[in-house]
Formats: sequence, structure tokens, C-alpha cells
Amino acid sequence: MYYTSTRDKSIKVTASKAIAQGISEEGGLFVPCEIPQFSIDKISSMVPMSYIDRAKTVLKEYLTDFTEEELDYCVEGAYAADKFSSDKIAPTVNVAGNKNILELWHGPTCAFKDMALQLLPYLMTVSAKKTADGKTIVILVATSGDTGKAALEGFKNVDNTKILVFYPVDGVSPMQKLQMTTQEGDNVAVCAINGNFDDAQSAVKSIFTNAEIKAQLAEKNMMFSSANSINWGRLVPQIVYYFSAYCDMLEMGNIKLGEEMNVVVPTGNFGNILAAYYAKQMGLPIKYLVCASNSNNVLTDFLHTGKYDRNRAFYTTTSPSMDILISSNLERLLFHMSGEDDKLVADLMSKLNSDGVYEISENLMAQISAVFDSGYASEEEVYDTIKTHFNSYNYLCDTHTAVAVKVYEKFVESGKSDIPTVIDSTASPYKFSASVLDAVLNGEAPKLDEFEMVDELNKVTNVSIPTPLASLKDKSVRFNDVCNKEDMSQMVFKLLNL
Ligand SMILES: *Cc1c(COP(=O)(O)O)cnc(C)c1O
Repeated sequence: MYYTSTRDKSIKVTASKAIAQGISEEGGLFVPCEIPQFSIDKISSMVPMSYIDRAKTVLKEYLTDFTEEELDYCVEGAYAADKFSSDKIAPTVNVAGNKNILELWHGPTCAFKDMALQLLPYLMTVSAKKTADGKTIVILVATSGDTGKAALEGFKNVDNTKILVFYPVDGVSPMQKLQMTTQEGDNVAVCAINGNFDDAQSAVKSIFTNAEIKAQLAEKNMMFSSANSINWGRLVPQIVYYFSAYCDMLEMGNIKLGEEMNVVVPTGNFGNILAAYYAKQMGLPIKYLVCASNSNNVLTDFLHTGKYDRNRAFYTTTSPSMDILISSNLERLLFHMSGEDDKLVADLMSKLNSDGVYEISENLMAQISAVFDSGYASEEEVYDTIKTHFNSYNYLCDTHTAVAVKVYEKFVESGKSDIPTVIDSTASPYKFSASVLDAVLNGEAPKLDEFEMVDELNKVTNVSIPTPLASLKDKSVRFNDVCNKEDMSQMVFKLLNL
């Protein structure tokens, strides 16, 4: 199995090269040259397996230059029982009828990013051994809140790696900020930037592809890589849990073998939903992929009109991990759906970069609409959903999950399709305690500090508090640098002590 670039099809690299490098030289994203196929029988054979074995079954088709021993080492290390608070790793919960919730937040940082970022450091170090001959890998991360912490936790004290995280100064929840600024480890650094997530992501991408900076790093025997979902090693672990959810639904009797399901994903950078698309292309019976956005509904508009336009108001919402106007992974979808038209993708991405807008052909749009649906939830709808969902089903959603639940309800009401559905739950409600408590208490939450808020939410709902969040209270802040986006490359050198 080889990987090529969305912007230059003449490129051909192994999985380990794609993962170690993170992004292609000319700025394109690595994509698999072919999609492995799983028959219904093969899917059925995965039902009795543990999550770890399901993961190995899927991953070995994509990571063909990893030996079996290497893959075992990576997967067993990443999903070890002591790192996840559920022995199912990613359990599927039937809430009512066709409504199932896939809980992706039982890892060490309580957000779905752990599903990939517990595995990525293993994949990265094995890949680096194969392809980067002894270089130290410098992981640069732009985060809307959850990736940063999950990447720090995954890479802390991993030999031959350093990790630098940039987050928008006013764009993360207090709990997310505390999680990052108190991070332990000898190879980590965290810095806030004056700007939003898109500013951080654009700056990181331009540092990656800056030849002069790369040369300076090479002199010190270092190279950059990425832990954002532009890295294939971030996406591929996410394909696994769609297979796993289907197997769990079969096991619970919520679906019959071969019967189709819908998937609803609260979306930001389009990574999670793209992983579901790969699962569908591999043969997993998925009918519609429903892309759920908050008030930053650039994807809803794109999926309805074929016009992507980031020139619009940016809202800071209660679901900050989805406050994104440039969804990087859409590039991969455009590549696959356009019949691998690298020239078209390069052209669209350059328009996005220069004008902030592009439009696709009706033909391409029709193909995308056959598979993808979309919707968004306003802030009011998010609050209302958290409250009614808790009151009706005694199930407490975080703000991001509530976006998806609301969009699921609208989708079913539209009459388009009502079949067994998996709704991704991407964070523990305790990561966004203030908003969740306020929603449950009808806007009447008392003014409390972050940790009192956590305790209060626990008192009101009886939902248990994840240990990693409770223990933050006793940690001291290690990082309080703030910089402007223009100064990010200098900050990188400073943080690396170069
Ligand atoms: C990152 C994140 C998302 C968005 O996922 P993408 O893969 O970027 O689309 C949604 N919810 C939470 C809680 C997240 O951390």
C-alpha cells in the first residue's frame, strides 16, 4: 500500500514515510492510493474480537510496511487497559430506538482525540526509525483545545520527539487551558497565540513548508512532523471505531448483519467524519454521513451549495473544538470524489488560500450529496438539547455531542432516513462543565470556579467525574507564553532552545 499527495499524484511514499513526514512537500495531504476492501464475512468475524484486535485487523491493511510485531507493539501500547476508563475502549450506548451514541472520550484526556493520539506516538516512532535515520521529530500542533492536550499526553517523554502546542488565547475552555498549561514532561512546550484556531493552523502549516526553517532544523538533526489530522497517522486509527461500533451494534442486536447505518459526526477539521467515509468505502454498511456543525457552519453551507466560503463572521461558541472555518480534511474528500484530480485540488486550495472561497462543479457536488448530509445547531439549540436529552434519557452530553444530537434529530425529522444511527460523542461533559451545568439548570448555574463547577455538575446529574480531570486541581501551571501569529516561527526556535 502506497500513499500519494492530494496536490501531486506523482508522489508515492510508504505509510511510515507519510506518517513521519506528516504533510507532503508541496503542501498536499497524504492519501492511500487504494482503499482496502472488507467483505461482510470479514466484518462479521470482527464481532467477537476485542477493540485491540479489531484495530489490528483494520490497521494492518493500511500500514503494510509495519511488521506484525511492530503493529502489535503499537496497538497494544496505545489501547492498554490502564489508559482507558472503559474496557471496550470506545463503547456504543443505545439511548433509544435507532439512536446510538459512540462514546469516544474514555481516554486519558477525556476527548475523542485520544483515540488517535494514544496510537500516533507509537506509529511515529516506529515510522521514524524506518525513514528518518535518528532525527529528533519535532511535533508542531495547532489546537482548538482537545488535540493539544491529547498530543501532549501521547508524546510526553517519548524518546527522540519534542512537542510544541499553539492554542488560541481566548478560544479554549478553562478546563482545556488548564489541561495544557499544567502538562508534565521534559520534551513539551505550550504557547497561546493572539488569534483563532485558523490563524494557528495556517501559521503551523506555513512553518512546516518553509524551506529555510526546515534547513535550520535539519542542521540540528531535527525534522518537523504533525499531530493534527492532516497527518495520516491521526486519521487511520479513527477508521477503526466505526467498524467497532458496527460490531457492537450487531452484538447488542441493534442492527442485522449487512444492514446499513447512518453516522452523525460533530465536525471541525473534517477528520473524524472523513474516517467514517473511509470505513464506508472499505465496505462498512453506512448509508449517510451527516456532518454536524455549530454556528460556524461553513461546512453546512458547502454541503448544501457546493461553495466553500470562509469569508464570514467567526463565532466563539460553547463547542470550541468545532470553531473552525478552514476544514483541512475536506481536501482529501475532494481528491477521492473527483476521481483523484490533483490539479483540481491544488487549484481549489490555492483559491481558498488567496480568496478564502472556492466552488466545485455540479457533477462533483452531486457525488458528494449522494453520501453526505449536513446541518447545524445554534447555541440555543445546543443548550436545549443538553437539557432535554438529560431529562428524557438521563444521558448527559457535552456541548459538541449535543450539536450532533440536535442535527441528528433534524435529519430524522426531515424524513430523509431513519435507520440505526451512530452519533459520535466526542468529549466528556466535564470538559465543558460551565456550559453543561448552565444548560441543565436552565441558565441558572451559580457563579463558581472551574472545579467547583465540576463538583456541582456531579451533584446535579450524578454522572461520575473522570479521574484525569479531577486530579488537575493539584497541578501547577508551567506554561504562560503568549505570542502573535507572525512571531510563531521565532517562538518555535525559542522553545526548542535553538
Ligand atoms: C476535535 C473535536 C471535534 C472535531 O473533530 P474533527 O475531526 O476536527 O472534525 C469535535 N468535538 C470535539 C470534542 C473535538 O475535540
